[in-house]
Amino acid sequence: MSGSGIRIAPPIMTQPRLAAKPLENSQRWDSPHDDEDLQPIVSVFLNRAAYIRVSVHSCSSDTVEVGGVLVGEWCQEEQSGDEFVIVKHALPARHTLQGSVYLTFTQDSLVDLHDQIDQRFEGEKIVGWYHTHPRMGIFLSHYDTWLHQNFFPEPWQVALVVEPVSSLGGFFVRQPDGDLDPARYFGFYEVDGNDGSSIVRWQNLTQSKNGIEGGSTNE
Ligand SMILES: [Zn+2]
Repeated sequence: MSGSGIRIAPPIMTQPRLAAKPLENSQRWDSPHDDEDLQPIVSVFLNRAAYIRVSVHSCSSDTVEVGGVLVGEWCQEEQSGDEFVIVKHALPARHTLQGSVYLTFTQDSLVDLHDQIDQRFEGEKIVGWYHTHPRMGIFLSHYDTWLHQNFFPEPWQVALVVEPVSSLGGFFVRQPDGDLDPARYFGFYEVDGNDGSSIVRWQNLTQSKNGIEGGSTNE
């Protein structure tokens, strides 16, 4: 387990890409905590390809935790100033030490993931990570929180937890003051889900009626 002490070099400071939220192509999924008085620093847009990749990987084991990184873009709306991430790809960590409690991003797995991103997704960033909690529910353990703060320290980087046995999922997102609530997770926007169909199967999320804004962002 000694690989857990290795930290990714801090990324070069960059700016978000200026872009409009792809709301017209999306439908909103709310978590039970989206109505609470929280201000996630970014909203999450999840492409179907990434959702499928995460779901397939998550279902590969109902006994040990599996995980990987989420790749895509960090964006900001010029007028509103709202920041959001678009998760375009999910890359399973190949060399992860797997156990029922601990999931570790080793140096080898991180080098491998960065190589894959450079080769396949030029210009995109690691916008977060995902891992599974078989039969454990959706939360961040102390270890998960430690890992998030050390390996994914950018304010806009998110953590997705998936419970594959009962089919649950949720995103953990920092507050404006940097606080990360380990118990309260957020929903997301399913990109390419505007035709009324959906591939999302996480039972703890509910489809927002109007399909546009969910949670506390709509004043
Ligand atoms: Zn965990």
